[in-house]
Amino acid sequence: MTTALYPGSFDPPTNGHVDIVTRAAAVFDKVVVGVYDTPAKTLLFNTSERVALMREAIKDLPNVKVMSFSGLTVDFAREVGAKVLVRGLRALSDFEMELQMASMNRNLDPNIEVVCLMTSPQYTFLSASLTKEIRKLGGDVRNLVPTHIADALDRKFDGRDNSDTIPRFLET
Ligand code: ADP
Repeated sequence: MTTALYPGSFDPPTNGHVDIVTRAAAVFDKVVVGVYDTPAKTLLFNTSERVALMREAIKDLPNVKVMSFSGLTVDFAREVGAKVLVRGLRALSDFEMELQMASMNRNLDPNIEVVCLMTSPQYTFLSASLTKEIRKLGGDVRNLVPTHIADALDRKFDGRDNSDTIPRFLET
């Protein structure tokens, strides 16, 4: 049985991330989405929010589990029994960074392979940071993220919510 770990910040998860998880879940027996606790970037959503948003996004995939982690990705991979790290590649610019990270991870643990899935063409331009920026400036991002994440962005940026109550998946 092959378990793959898909690590990232997912601040917030986008349709591009969900596409990668869905495709990884079709290739590997089990996929763990690792939500990195403290990435070197300013976060909009805290860790439990990012985990809850991702859980809701992938709830129909029975072989996918979402967990948060801190520390080295390779250590977390070993902890969950993953021999494969999944990453998504959009453009050449992603490749350089992914190659550097994959090489560093190989240096840390040569038993863990990195598998990069090419982005689906409709998501080449899509990033979490651009999505936040567009939404912050009042742009429509509803075709870039799942509905519950667009709602969560509304709540963050202008306190507006399209649902009557706080969604169950965000209750702690
Ligand atoms: P990180 O902060 O580690 O880059 P991200 O959440 O931004 O984490 O991304 C996690 C992974 O998902 C990365 O491998 C990234 O390249 C990939 N990814 C992000 N957006 C897309 C997309 N639109 N299509 C395919 N892969 C993507």
